[in-house]
Amino acid sequence: MSIKDKLMYKKKSSYDVYTGETVDKIREYSAEYVSFLDRAKTERETVVASIELLEKNGFSQYKLGDKINPGDKLYYNNRGKCLFAFTIGKESLEKGIRICAAHLDSPRLDLKQIPLFEDSGFGYLKTHYYGGIKKYQWTAIPLALHGVVALKTGEVINIVIGEDENDPVFCITDLLPHLGRAQMEKPLGKAITGEGLNILIGSEPCEGEEHDAVKINMMRILNEKYGIVEEDFLSAELSAVPADKARDLGLDRSLILAYGHDDRCCSYPALTALVENDSEHTVICVLADKEEIGSEGNTGMKSSLLRDLIDELSASLNADPIVVRANSLCLSADVSAAYDPLYSEVYEKTNSAMLNGGVVMMKYTGHAGKASSNDARAEYIASLRAMFDECGVHWQTAELGKVDEGGGGTVAMYIADINIDTIDLGVPVLSMHAPLEVIAKNDLYSAHLAFLAFCK
Ligand code: MN
Ligand code: MN
Repeated sequence: MSIKDKLMYKKKSSYDVYTGETVDKIREYSAEYVSFLDRAKTERETVVASIELLEKNGFSQYKLGDKINPGDKLYYNNRGKCLFAFTIGKESLEKGIRICAAHLDSPRLDLKQIPLFEDSGFGYLKTHYYGGIKKYQWTAIPLALHGVVALKTGEVINIVIGEDENDPVFCITDLLPHLGRAQMEKPLGKAITGEGLNILIGSEPCEGEEHDAVKINMMRILNEKYGIVEEDFLSAELSAVPADKARDLGLDRSLILAYGHDDRCCSYPALTALVENDSEHTVICVLADKEEIGSEGNTGMKSSLLRDLIDELSASLNADPIVVRANSLCLSADVSAAYDPLYSEVYEKTNSAMLNGGVVMMKYTGHAGKASSNDARAEYIASLRAMFDECGVHWQTAELGKVDEGGGGTVAMYIADINIDTIDLGVPVLSMHAPLEVIAKNDLYSAHLAFLAFCK
């Protein structure tokens, strides 16, 4: 071995790591992920698809206060928007819990509470965007409507329009270039406004109506199909998301183009690792809502629910919850920005996540001098290095872009706040937060292996 090989660190490509049978496994695993993605475009749908997967694998529903026993495989459905799945191991809970925490919400366009209006013979829906989007990316693409309408009777109506190939789709129109001179001189962030993100939903007037005939017709169609009236929008959660299905990208099919990789490309591997895990540790997979808007609210990671759940487990298994938390470990499972050679100016290449470079560990996120970041301690990283290398996990380290270029956060710090060693680990993504994002299949599989090694 040369001195260089002995002393120097070298990042590996997944193509040097994955060969033979593993290549087939990755293909299979990615196909299952793609089918999961197509069923899970919103946080509510991701909860439903995840529960389906869990129940198929012997998990059953847990309610706060239920008695828990070693060997139990359970899930707690928090308001249909956030999910805690867990397996109770044979070892003492005071040895700590292994926690993988991902989020299942993605940037999108939410409908306003009074969304419907008509202008110049067109029916529209008003929106208020959710999460960090580049508004111009959401015009002139096919959109689908997903969500629920909660009625005063207590009934909740599920709505999905635009996913079946026989369904109509919707769209936000953009200005033709011929008349876009002034628009195109504006900065990208200002060319399309939030109030301008109105979704075109029809143009046919209601027979016999003189005023607002198109708007009335749109409501008539919705009423026919779903039994709702306009006032029911007041208690609805409806979102417009890209109507596209997840697809293989590239001649070699090495990549996946899809809506909502952030953060389902971490939620799904965290979930499948929990399902496959048979270790003696207690493991919790958290799939949180609201990460894209700051983890607020009782379905977000800032809520006391993880802490409450640990208290409940501790009470049931005669453990001291303070000791349990102090000995617990967490992987905050979230995506990282992959190095994009087309925008190399915002990246510092040595410390950037490479597509096909493996699952990414981020010691810190945040912005401007590590502000608002959970800067994980070196000892925790060392233990993960040992664990990943022993289990053959292909991984890399990175931070998000150049120093002072921008930044972002994850749920990591809210878990670290309750005295749990936490670090960010996830899949590198190109075009993050765009209507369609890109990941590499090899990295997705590396995430699965990393979470599996962590559960063990
Ligand atoms: Mn994320
Ligand atoms: Mn995000």
